[in-house]
Amino acid sequence: MSPGPRIGVLALQGDVREHVRALEAVGATTVPVKREAELHGIQGIVVPGGESTVIDKLLRAFELFEPLRDRLRGGLPAYGSCAGMILLADRVTDATADQQTLGGIDMTVRRNAFGRQVDSFEQDVRYAAWPAPVRAVFIRAPWVEQVGESVEVLARVEGGRADGRIVAVRQGGLLATSFHPEVTGDVRVHAQFVEMVRERS
Ligand code: GLN
Repeated sequence: MSPGPRIGVLALQGDVREHVRALEAVGATTVPVKREAELHGIQGIVVPGGESTVIDKLLRAFELFEPLRDRLRGGLPAYGSCAGMILLADRVTDATADQQTLGGIDMTVRRNAFGRQVDSFEQDVRYAAWPAPVRAVFIRAPWVEQVGESVEVLARVEGGRADGRIVAVRQGGLLATSFHPEVTGDVRVHAQFVEMVRERS
């Protein structure tokens, strides 16, 4: 069997271990990324959930912001979950004054979109391409307010106050979800990302 692709997990803050577990469950080899040298040799990267403003600050403090942004611009596949989705967005609503994003996905994401009072909740989310819904765990989650033409909408919320809101997207080698599939044991989103990385390696 061919060895799995080497996928970095940005390990500055957030739920790194859960992503490592999910990626390894679908056959990837993982590399925690905290410094620039660790970007070399990876074929894809996961930007985990956590707090996007903190991850942004740490990226700059660790001098990783520009090298990672350059790798993304060069076509490195990436998957961002929750705060990671915010970091992959070209535009953010409700960002803090000095907040920057790595960008890459032509979309506008609203931080804490489900309301600041709503800390977390779970809901089934249907992907058009998949027979069974994904149990989506939202934790102070963003949603996607607007997407450009080249962005494929993979899933939307159905029902409730957020009915119709976009919560999973893909643009080329970039994948993002508002929710946290890494905490449920359902590894389909990670499998999809590993497949995207394989296609591009
Ligand atoms: N609200 C957080 C942010 O703005 C994201 C929360 C999460 O990643 N679970 O970054």
